[in-house]
Amino acid sequence: MAKFIFVTGGVTSSLGKGIIAASLAKLLQARGLTVTIQKFDPYLNVDPGTLNPYEHGECYVTDDGAETDLDLGHYERFLNTPTSQANNVTTGRIYQTVINREREGDYLGKTVQVVPHITDEIKRRMLLLGEAGNFDIVITELGGTVGDIESLPFVEAVRQLQWELPEEDCMVVHLTLIPYLKAAKELKTKPTQHSVRMLSQEGVHPDVIVCRTEHSLSDEIRRKVALFCNVKPNAVIEALDASTIYEVPLKMLQEGLDVIVLKQLQINGYSAPELTKWRGFLDKLNYPKSRVKIGLIGKYIELQDAYKSILESFIHAGAMNQCKVQIVNVHSEFLTNENVNEKLRELDGLLVAPGFGARGVDGKIIAVKYARENKMPFFGICLGMQMAVIEYARNVLGWSDAHSTEMNSTTSKPVIALMEEQKKVKKKGGTMRLGAYPCEIALNTLAYKIYDSELISERHRHRWEFNNNYLNDFENAGLLASGRNPESKLVEIVELKGHPFFIGVQYHPELKSTVENPHPLFVNFVKAASSNADLKIGMQISKSETIPS
Ligand code: GLN
Repeated sequence: MAKFIFVTGGVTSSLGKGIIAASLAKLLQARGLTVTIQKFDPYLNVDPGTLNPYEHGECYVTDDGAETDLDLGHYERFLNTPTSQANNVTTGRIYQTVINREREGDYLGKTVQVVPHITDEIKRRMLLLGEAGNFDIVITELGGTVGDIESLPFVEAVRQLQWELPEEDCMVVHLTLIPYLKAAKELKTKPTQHSVRMLSQEGVHPDVIVCRTEHSLSDEIRRKVALFCNVKPNAVIEALDASTIYEVPLKMLQEGLDVIVLKQLQINGYSAPELTKWRGFLDKLNYPKSRVKIGLIGKYIELQDAYKSILESFIHAGAMNQCKVQIVNVHSEFLTNENVNEKLRELDGLLVAPGFGARGVDGKIIAVKYARENKMPFFGICLGMQMAVIEYARNVLGWSDAHSTEMNSTTSKPVIALMEEQKKVKKKGGTMRLGAYPCEIALNTLAYKIYDSELISERHRHRWEFNNNYLNDFENAGLLASGRNPESKLVEIVELKGHPFFIGVQYHPELKSTVENPHPLFVNFVKAASSNADLKIGMQISKSETIPS
């Protein structure tokens, strides 16, 4: 049986519980323990798959096809190990299980209640990943903020587990905010005291308090938090704002968070933290030798979290190339034939983002055309790949009304269409093509050069597909299907012959990029953008040389 660490949050949301949980997990992993992280979310949706990005940011997809919270992306990026369906549980899923069981008659005539039936199901799920013997430590992040009505059953489950499990097998880390009042020039501990008191009223006493702060905590502040929140002074951890989330594990190491946890859980004989690769990554990230500007063409660009995994993948790939990747957000809804040159001219490469629905697709098609015609490195992901296919059909094959049936059900050239299985689907939740699928790569292609492998596996989240009825037309005109599913023959990768770098993928490579394993597509795209930048500089120099003095 594993040991369990619960991470709760107080004072406000968005303090970065996921990053603290992932950082602690990274340190414990670096000391030789096997660790996994799970997230319990208090909302009633069964999973976040039906939530739009304005509600919930990006939806992260696991190998086994679960649509999950974006924090699972952080867990994978930090730990470099895959998560699964079991790593994300919502109130909706808990209630669904209990209600189904009630309908089966499993409760033998008893009244079904929040306590004990809902809390029992929460506890069962909290312990589940720790039972198979695969992990020494299971970290559970509780979504929401202490005091929320909807998170009460989760906190109650933690209270019961604290009581049921041996003392050395369970602990609680509470993340709070220590705000700085400019007018008083002071850090304030009262909100933290209140949030700990609230947690205590619900029966859970934290063992460690991690304090998010913009200014360093003095010894006096640490003592105050320790005294009034009833923890030892060394269990008050400062979490100062960091320049990148990837610095946080090192900051937590400095603060000794991992050692306090190991002591409390009575884990002896752990090794010194092995973080060579991690530090190597940070060195490269912090000391880039070149710079590229990449345009992110999407319709959710004003939302920080909508393209989370894509942005993180660029950070990994940038570090790998020792190149600072500057992302320039380009709103696809406002990109037109008139302004495209002015908006994209300065960029070194274009990524056309995933998405759903008709809004903003015209701008995406215009962006693809610009990249294709100007030989600018292009990378299309999911909807971005579909837009590349539509652009080629319209502007090279001359099929002016070519489209995806997602946006135009009566197009005469449905180059992107629904597969038969998808046509039958009526329910929205969990019914897309989801999770990992194999893909066979054709030799002598850009895709093969990038992956250096004939068989890969990537994660999907979409309904529409490349329409194979038109495959010959595309290939004869120069747009190749360089990656296909070995069984269904669905097209997973398209690329353009004779272009320096033009690739579109039906899957989501951003879901598999980690600090220690940056995704080759991103790494090579950044490299191509960087060569393009060098080329432009070269052209500028040669132009200036030809100007008569
Ligand atoms: N809307 C498209 C589809 O469902 C693309 C989805 C995506 O980009 N993730 O096929």
